[in-house]
Amino acid sequence: MSKKVAAFLNDRRPPTPFLVLDLGIVESNFKALRKAMPDSRIYYAVKANPAPEILTLLARQGACFDAASVPEIEMALAAGAGPERISYGNTIKKEVDIARAYELGVRMFAFDSAAELDKLSQAAPASRVFCRILTSNEGADWPLSRKFGCDPAMAYELLRIAPSKGVVPYGLSFHVGSQQRDPKQWDNALKTTAELFQRLKVDGVQLQMVNLGGGFPTRYRQEVPSPRVYARTIHKALLTHFGNSIPDTVIEPGRALVGSAGVIHSEVVLISKKSATDEKRWVFLDIGKFGGLAETMDEAIQYPIVSARNGRPEPVILAGPTCDSMDVLYERADYRLPNDLKVGDRLEIRATGAYTTTYASVAFNGFQPLAAYYI
Ligand SMILES: *Cc1c(COP(=O)(O)O)cnc(C)c1O
Repeated sequence: MSKKVAAFLNDRRPPTPFLVLDLGIVESNFKALRKAMPDSRIYYAVKANPAPEILTLLARQGACFDAASVPEIEMALAAGAGPERISYGNTIKKEVDIARAYELGVRMFAFDSAAELDKLSQAAPASRVFCRILTSNEGADWPLSRKFGCDPAMAYELLRIAPSKGVVPYGLSFHVGSQQRDPKQWDNALKTTAELFQRLKVDGVQLQMVNLGGGFPTRYRQEVPSPRVYARTIHKALLTHFGNSIPDTVIEPGRALVGSAGVIHSEVVLISKKSATDEKRWVFLDIGKFGGLAETMDEAIQYPIVSARNGRPEPVILAGPTCDSMDVLYERADYRLPNDLKVGDRLEIRATGAYTTTYASVAFNGFQPLAAYYI
């Protein structure tokens, strides 16, 4: 814990559950990624944590923004980014929202279907458009496959006809899946991407940009490779497939910039067993799946959970406080907590700066959305 966070906790003592996020860590995560990948423009995926404090900090650092809705575009603008630094990266948009983004000055849009290209043609004339392709999400703890992207053959066809629709075929994008622990997963997508660049060039369509997506990880329970390893592996793949004509590249990190900066403080509400012979204790917290820990779904994201007690670590099932039986955090993932853990104890749920504050219900069972402090 940094001195800043310790001082904050000591002075403010907010009621649990709450997130405290150290903006200094966001800044150093950003700088580390920029240093590792100096040739790629960084579009922060606003959805990971849209707090104005974070957006302002990143805007000041020169970041661009990947927005998924008009409100996210407005938040990026309010943080001081001009519309030329904003990409409307959602492939599923209402035409009125495209028109609104266009009115606000946004000129970079994603699509992955003929119908979406038609909407862009109508509502965002002469904008730069990029097509998202389907890729394998193998190796990712939080896959984003299937719902987004189209088959490369379709991407080819749509980008080929884009000029006739009055928009500029700018490039291709993909997302290898969030919390992608294998840097080699970019290679396949880049192979497909380079082939499409080649084929379209033959047709007189010169793409300029490859959007490498997000997927850069945060360290949770498991160690992950450093940004430099990702940078090196991706650069090698770019060289292999594009040779000496590497296009402009864009990355869209979300989790990697903010995940490690946040810690949720939670209180133990109840410790119980279901029978006299039950081997595992159930530990119920004052935060669960509906209060900001949605990414524990299928136990996909496994946050480090830390108690200040020193007792022998023994297996537990961790669950949230709501009256929904879905609200179990970890049952199979072998979490252990000290055997002297008590009701009323404080637990730290670490690396929770991404996909928590806005990934919560409004007030299911009367539990309020997660309080957050950005310091
Ligand atoms: C969610 C998302 C991201 C961010 O992904 P991370 O894995 O958090 O880096 C980037 N791009 C798009 C299009 C997304 O939907």
